[in-house]
Amino acid sequence: MADPILAAHEIAPSCFDLSGRFQPASIRDQMLRGYLTVERLFESGRLTPHSQILIVGAGAGGVASGIQAARRGATVTIVEQANRPFVLQRDAGSRWIDPTQYDWPSGHWREGKFPWIERPPMPLYWEKGPASEIAVDWAEQLEAEVRLHRPRLLVRYSTRFECLIDIDSALERGSLQAVLADSAGSHVEIFDAAIFCHGFGRETTAIADYIGPLFWNDSCLRAWKDGQSTLVVGGGDGALQDFLLLTTGKRSARDIYDAILPTHLGLEIERETQSAEDQAQRASLWAANRLHDHAIQMWLEQIHRKLADQVLRNESSVRSALNNMVSGSRTHVTIAHRCSHFGRVYAINRFLALLIVRFLEDRNLRPRRSGVVAESIRSGEAAHSCDPSNPEWCYGYPHSVTFRADDCLAASQDCSAATPFDAPAIENFDRIVIRAGVEAPSGIAVRLNPGVEVSLWRWASHRQSLPYHAL
Ligand SMILES: Cc1cc2nc3c(=O)[nH]c(=O)nc-3n(C[C@H](O)[C@H](O)[C@H](O)COP(=O)(O)OP(=O)(O)OC[C@H]3O[C@@H](n4cnc5c(N)ncnc54)[C@H](O)[C@@H]3O)c2cc1C
Repeated sequence: MADPILAAHEIAPSCFDLSGRFQPASIRDQMLRGYLTVERLFESGRLTPHSQILIVGAGAGGVASGIQAARRGATVTIVEQANRPFVLQRDAGSRWIDPTQYDWPSGHWREGKFPWIERPPMPLYWEKGPASEIAVDWAEQLEAEVRLHRPRLLVRYSTRFECLIDIDSALERGSLQAVLADSAGSHVEIFDAAIFCHGFGRETTAIADYIGPLFWNDSCLRAWKDGQSTLVVGGGDGALQDFLLLTTGKRSARDIYDAILPTHLGLEIERETQSAEDQAQRASLWAANRLHDHAIQMWLEQIHRKLADQVLRNESSVRSALNNMVSGSRTHVTIAHRCSHFGRVYAINRFLALLIVRFLEDRNLRPRRSGVVAESIRSGEAAHSCDPSNPEWCYGYPHSVTFRADDCLAASQDCSAATPFDAPAIENFDRIVIRAGVEAPSGIAVRLNPGVEVSLWRWASHRQSLPYHAL
């Protein structure tokens, strides 16, 4: 029987793609993918201590893969185009990360560390905390492993993987030819296997000339002036995380949950959402098109919304905790997204976002525009004109946003019923955050034979149900 981990990620002979196009793809998931891929390659005898392995990307996924392969005795080269590892998290001073909070409502969601069981020993231990501090700690762990395995574990910074050439005959040759580029130029190097952990690609934070802050470059989100209104565009996890951060001021979903829900109530909600999330996850793995996804997300959202309404109706302690937390300008945060429901998001983000949306709606506010696209964004003051060459320049300056109803809603009867307006509407906001997903990275390619390049992103199915932990 083919090893399922290897089969899911092998995109060409001895080439494994673990990049962020797979779901789920949290930091913990990427580390686990890397660890499991390397372990299974050794278990199956496809890698041995004599193997030479190329790892592309020194993010959490690539470094976990590289350390594990070195621990198994192989010779490992990690290439990283930046001049240091963990670039995304390194500068994210105020972004809080947690290896288990997104496993809510599973029983272990409060562990807050990874790995949380002793065996097997896994690379890059971490505990919940600010992303930048964790990244510094990982970098120290990486340096210690490089010293320990010298010269078999090498990280080459400012080195870019360009492509693999002549992949058709890699099987006959028994080796891969990788084109790497550094300050000395491009050259070909030979490896027995390659593991691609090149990440998610570029985040979309712009609409026309408006440019907002990147997710991992979030410190400006905390700067807050009274009376300001804020718009978050997007219905995925990035948008929901920022909606929660901006409405509550809390650094993590776990903190909000603990501040709002007494333990007995939390346990009750966890029991109910566990069952709904499990059903949705199973259905989702076999969904074949957008309509299937639509139906699943609609159903899931209805369950979460019903729960949120019950909690708000019956639990005065929750209402008063929300009253304290979501007050002043925090009540002037709006989330706008394409469909009538949020995307395929983590359960805790969905539940908390709906709880806050319903709480604000009960106070006759309108925190959510669903079924809309933010079509254009224009500067609202003479002192600022949007300049696409100036990242994050627009954030914090008033802008007017033109929304139009999204035709994705035509896909479903239920959805079109939820359309809030059918003509373009213009609204003004003081601050705008755009979380519109990521674009596939450019330049990562496999050359099948001279002249034919295939992007790695075109291969293999992307939805997975990963284990929580290696056992
Ligand atoms: C908007 C957004 C929000 C997220 N929020 C969370 C969150 O709250 N919690 C969480 O756990 N996870 C979150 N994630 C996921 C998290 O970012 C990843 O799981 C994590 O960064 C580890 O991924 P990785 O190692 O696969 O890739 P990355 O961390 O992206 O690292 C990839 C590396 O590859 C390098 N690279 C790319 N191309 C090349 C090339 N051609 N040659 C050499 N090097 C190359 C890049 O420079 C980069 O250093 C989020 C992701 C996004 C996009």
